[in-house]
Amino acid sequence: MHIKSAEFIMSNSDVAKCPKSMLPEYAFIGRSNVGKSSLINMLTHRKSLAKTSGRPGKTQLINHFLINKNWHLVDLPGYGYARVSKDAKKVFQKFITQYFALREQLVTAFVLVDIRHSPQPIDLEFMQWLGENGVPFSIIFTKADKLKPKAIEKHVEDYKAIVLETWEEMPNYFITSSSNETGKDDVLNYIDNLNNN
Ligand code: GDP
Repeated sequence: MHIKSAEFIMSNSDVAKCPKSMLPEYAFIGRSNVGKSSLINMLTHRKSLAKTSGRPGKTQLINHFLINKNWHLVDLPGYGYARVSKDAKKVFQKFITQYFALREQLVTAFVLVDIRHSPQPIDLEFMQWLGENGVPFSIIFTKADKLKPKAIEKHVEDYKAIVLETWEEMPNYFITSSSNETGKDDVLNYIDNLNNN
């Protein structure tokens, strides 16, 4: 898919106020600092469409972007930031739960994980929750440039082994790097195919 236009539409703290349009929607979510903003900027070919986070965990907003005037890219807040209070975590949970429960336009979610890290309980729990709630998702491994190809293979195999302890199949996944644009076409073509089906 060629990105012809990418526009910021709105930020919301309330799912009910998100755009009413029924354009297909794709949500990006992951732990703070996983590289979500960088990935969104890389995919959309914009330097700062999504704000790269100087202060992780700060923005607790649902951000809608209109891409090529025919689909929405949604930047959801990062989760799992250690310095966030218990109350803030509860608010976050409610907010995310409502987003996934209410957004009929959502086609699929992309759960971002840093390729260098072993599977983190918070990511596995989140994927479990998505599965239980019937939300389709793919995994996006980020920062692949930080590892050599052999190490990437090994990390993905190790990740799969853990995921397969609870899942029958490894979810669909992508290996990406915002530094060298690895995986860009894979993710965009995947979205393009879903949009055309
Ligand atoms: P967010 O908090 O998930 O939105 O993460 P950011 O996009 O702000 O990135 C967090 C940090 O990781 C920043 O210092 C980025 O420069 C760095 N980063 C993000 N993506 C990549 C990548 O693909 N490769 C490398 N080497 N660093 C990355």
